[in-house]
Amino acid sequence: MDQKISNSKLKQQIEKKVNKTIKKNNLFTHKDKVVVAVSGGKDSTVCLYILKKLGYDVEGLTIDVNIGDYTRENLKNLQEFCDQNQIKLNIVSFRDEFGMSLCYIQSILKSKDYNYSSCKTCGILKRYLLNKYARKLNFNAIATGHNLDDEAQSFIMNIFRNDFKLAIRQGSRTGIIDSDKFIKRVKPLYFVSESDIEKYSKLMGFKVNYGICPCSVGAYRRKYKKILNDFEKEHPHVKNNIIKFQEQLKNSVKPNNGKEKINCCENCDEPCSKELCKACQIILELKKS
Ligand code: AMP
Ligand code: ZN
Repeated sequence: MDQKISNSKLKQQIEKKVNKTIKKNNLFTHKDKVVVAVSGGKDSTVCLYILKKLGYDVEGLTIDVNIGDYTRENLKNLQEFCDQNQIKLNIVSFRDEFGMSLCYIQSILKSKDYNYSSCKTCGILKRYLLNKYARKLNFNAIATGHNLDDEAQSFIMNIFRNDFKLAIRQGSRTGIIDSDKFIKRVKPLYFVSESDIEKYSKLMGFKVNYGICPCSVGAYRRKYKKILNDFEKEHPHVKNNIIKFQEQLKNSVKPNNGKEKINCCENCDEPCSKELCKACQIILELKKS
């Protein structure tokens, strides 16, 4: 009985935290059309579920990167989940968009001396498609399942790379504000730990993939995850403290107030910092092959 009460309390606490993050950081309102980028993993599924439960106007958008059984199973789970919860699921695939799977794209890039990791290529192309389709389908915000652990890792990685600009831009709301080209990206689970999300997902009995992407073996980020988890065992609150520190840092730096100039890619008109966005650079390389 006690366990039952504490489980339902935990779920309530998580939902409350998500609601507070949305309201306090102005992520979106009940008038907005929000799309959750869903992978079939626990984080984005929990995010989609909680936003729907809180009464937001949400749909899912998944990018099928076509890596065999792994993505087939994710897609099946997602479709079932969305049907059960009366949520529309939008599906875009690498094969339809680029004519090939992630692994094939990666092997072509390798032969052309691109030293991008599989995760980097996948991330660039996924972000490009998420923005393209969120804009096409008239969404006001793209929500991802990034959690407190992901963000603490990112902050430490930015310090190790001396990337001050990225470190201060981190937050539950990123991207270029007030641009009709760039759909704002939001992270409603920003303050929820990965272990709490896993507990929530298991308590709800969600059919999701708790494993890791087979293409991400050896990813650099994993090392940071391990370091922070090791620290946290001996010094609880380390991850929380990193995020609190990041927030103070962000607030102490003079904001740019939307003065940031947005360039657009010459090829696809998506927002980017150079003449050609990274996705188009990759796509042009694939066409040359
Ligand atoms: P990751 O970089 O794999 O940890 O994913 C971070 C977030 O990106 C997830 O929580 C999702 O919101 C989103 N995401 C990852 N993979 C996909 C995908 N295949 N389709 C749509 N969104 C995704
Ligand atoms: Zn482009």
